[in-house]
Amino acid sequence: MNSPAPDWHAAARALRIDGRAFIAGARVAAMDGASFDCRSPIDGRSLTQVARCGAADVDAAVASARRAFDDGRWSRRSPAARKKTLLRFAEGIVAAQDELALLETLDMGKPIQQSLAVDVASTARCIAWYAEAVDKIYDEVAPAPHTALALITREAMGVIGAIVPWNYPMIMAAWKLGPALAAGNSVVLKPSEKSPLTALRLAEIAIAAGLPEGVFNVVPGYGDEAGEALALHMDVDAIGFTGSTRVGRRMLEYAGRSNLKRVYNELGGKSAFIVFPDFRDIDRAARTVAGSMFFNQGESCNAPSRVFVHESVADAFLAVVAAEAPKYAPGDPLSGTAETGAIVDETQLRTVLGYIDAGHGEGATLRTGGRRVRVETGGFFVEPTVFEGVTNRMKIAREEIFGPVMSVIPFETENEAIAMANDSSYGLQASVWSHDINRAHRVARALKAGTVHVNQYDEDDITVPFGGVKQSGNGRDKSLHAFDKVTELKTTWIRIDGE
Ligand code: NAD
Repeated sequence: MNSPAPDWHAAARALRIDGRAFIAGARVAAMDGASFDCRSPIDGRSLTQVARCGAADVDAAVASARRAFDDGRWSRRSPAARKKTLLRFAEGIVAAQDELALLETLDMGKPIQQSLAVDVASTARCIAWYAEAVDKIYDEVAPAPHTALALITREAMGVIGAIVPWNYPMIMAAWKLGPALAAGNSVVLKPSEKSPLTALRLAEIAIAAGLPEGVFNVVPGYGDEAGEALALHMDVDAIGFTGSTRVGRRMLEYAGRSNLKRVYNELGGKSAFIVFPDFRDIDRAARTVAGSMFFNQGESCNAPSRVFVHESVADAFLAVVAAEAPKYAPGDPLSGTAETGAIVDETQLRTVLGYIDAGHGEGATLRTGGRRVRVETGGFFVEPTVFEGVTNRMKIAREEIFGPVMSVIPFETENEAIAMANDSSYGLQASVWSHDINRAHRVARALKAGTVHVNQYDEDDITVPFGGVKQSGNGRDKSLHAFDKVTELKTTWIRIDGE
């Protein structure tokens, strides 16, 4: 017999939320006592006060991370021992799944069942995957002359600063934490001020699982306060940043103004989705683009927000997209059945509505959606929105909206589609839909993007790198390649006498 669906509203009312920072293994208030109000986008209500960390708190967190790294309490444990602890951390995440999912949904507005099935599950899998990987990676011995041995080893960097956004708060944190901790580093994590709650709980769960104190610290606060202090810190060895291209630029400046720390940027996107007339199942392409675009309220860096459709199939394709879009209409995120939830906050709501106005203003035609809904809840909800008759020069086709707004652009020739797809400052992901094998390969090769999908858009896994080219960034999260960002290569020459 199925157990009854949980009453998430009752669980939310019963939840006690601690918004204090997590430094040196303990919950602490900001040193100057400052805090900010953390409000839920579901109904606009206050959830808790969160520590507003500043430079002094970041200093304390970095110092504790450095002490932990230097005395070897984690960094000098064997990979097999680190694996054991991190696997317990992953188990702790699963054990706390209801609480973590609830915090994520209340904090950033996504549907609770997605928080459980996607965010919590992927976070646990990510930590477990890096735990499992770390005692299976070998270093190298170079083909040196007989008189010497040349070792090429990877060493943990030291203190890694992680600065992450609000759209998948736990997953984005896990993509930084997994490789960094597995490799033996200490981490100071700065979650977004819009979604700080799960990061704080993750740190508690990690320490309870046996991660030594000081190895994982969380400093909630504003970007230009805690974030800037962390990115400028002279004792931070690398910054793993995920967020906007605008702030990614600043990360490079901060490194230049401080200690030239390594900067790995995972930034915005405006991903192209190209449908050729020889793709035999136009319905499937249309259903896929709607699902991928509107999932997570359109707040995904890789959302396929620029859709290029061959003019001969544009009408049929758009008819299906327009019929699919309302299925992603926002509902109560705590109901357990809503396909989409609330936009993260009022500022982002205004941004999204501003782009919808810009679409109207530039002469695009609204096919469906376009309005704020569920206003009576006090929350921030926008209908899935599709514009047709868009040109690649329009603002809605050039700028990342980060909300449920799709632009559909017709094309005539393959070269024209490739040229428009690549005519973007971004290069995160792209997709080509064609049953002509030569065309599919040709176009996939020509697209400037970190990931190209062929005849699908949904596949994703921790086993493959994720990241972009051009102004979508330079880093690659996920897969074994992520270890490159948290380790340094060292060459050791050893002379062998008597050969
Ligand atoms: P954002 O750049 O505004 O903020 C990201 C983080 O940086 C937050 O923690 C914020 O507090 C901090 N920050 C802001 N200003 C700062 C400053 N001056 N100094 C230091 N830190 C600062 O981005 P956002 O609105 O939180 O997230 C949305 C963006 O993230 C979108 O552009 C999206 O495409 C991108 N994103 C990219 C990926 C990827 O893997 N490429 C994944 C998810 C989101």
